[in-house]
Amino acid sequence: MLAISTLGNGKIEIIDIPKPKISDNEILLKVKASSICGTDIKIKNFGHFKNPEGKKIVLGHEVSGIIEQIGKNVPSSLFTEGMRVAIAPNIGCGHCDNCISGFTNYCENYQAIGITINGSFAEYLKIPYEYIIQGNISKISDSLSFEEASLVEPLSTVLAASESINIAPPDIVLIIGAGPMGILHLMMARLRGAKKIIVSEISDIRREQALQFGADIAVNPEKVNLKDVVLRETDSKGVNVLITAAPSKRAQEEALELIATKGRINLFGGLPKGQDIISIKSNIIHYKNILITGTTGQSIHQYRKAISIAESKKIDLTKLITARFSLKEAEKAFQTAVLESTLKVVFTI
Ligand SMILES: [Zn+2]
Ligand SMILES: [Zn+2]
Repeated sequence: MLAISTLGNGKIEIIDIPKPKISDNEILLKVKASSICGTDIKIKNFGHFKNPEGKKIVLGHEVSGIIEQIGKNVPSSLFTEGMRVAIAPNIGCGHCDNCISGFTNYCENYQAIGITINGSFAEYLKIPYEYIIQGNISKISDSLSFEEASLVEPLSTVLAASESINIAPPDIVLIIGAGPMGILHLMMARLRGAKKIIVSEISDIRREQALQFGADIAVNPEKVNLKDVVLRETDSKGVNVLITAAPSKRAQEEALELIATKGRINLFGGLPKGQDIISIKSNIIHYKNILITGTTGQSIHQYRKAISIAESKKIDLTKLITARFSLKEAEKAFQTAVLESTLKVVFTI
């Protein structure tokens, strides 16, 4: 079968490898759609801290497909061959405090397809036993296309962030960065009832996209003073919610200058390794009672909630798809994924 692998050396390879053989405890998925994530690009360029240097890995963790084969020890009441499913990418050890509370994404010993285990940029994906028993395989309704279902994963990471800062009416929300994740945050904030959404983004194309996706105001922070805009739009109070959806140190440092009393900040985009020391006025946190969260990944519960949001069409994930490619067109797909005008690129298989 075809698959797209990397050694973490800046290159991808289209490889022909044997179709995976499953054990009696595993499931084989016929991959139908798998979207490219910023994480895939990072692993391609720099590898991943979970992997030894030079480990060859098949990329891809945003995935949906059809169950092709079920091992004979897998409870037959749960799954059937031909079932349409989406797969949450992370599993935990199953017994640490984080796993017990449902947050396998914060397990210190997590594993993930496309990161530590071969991923879904392939014709078939072997789904290990732990994925079956931890609830990572979710049935999807016929109303949800495979392409949309592959985008449930990024949607669920945004849902996890929005839950951590509890976006609700009448919040005024500022989103810094209008790449695909910024746009998903915009759609999520709207769904949760934000009164006004301001987007800060230096790219002209991305600002325009943010407005098309329903931002009330899109600001270029290199041309206008973002703080002035925030004060003008909030009766000088500052925004109630601020999300940094860009790997920007400056955005993180400036957040406290823009936030209202009892405001909530989510540092969604991580900073590059070794560049994560920032300087902030901590008294603002103290005197204004500011909540700062950081989130990564999603719990299985959040993943399932994201499926139901996608199925309801309250967030239309199809709008996010800029381009579709076959696995053979991997080079072109990865080149497209990094363009400013691109939101999500999906492999349809
Ligand atoms: Zn992802
Ligand atoms: Zn654990």
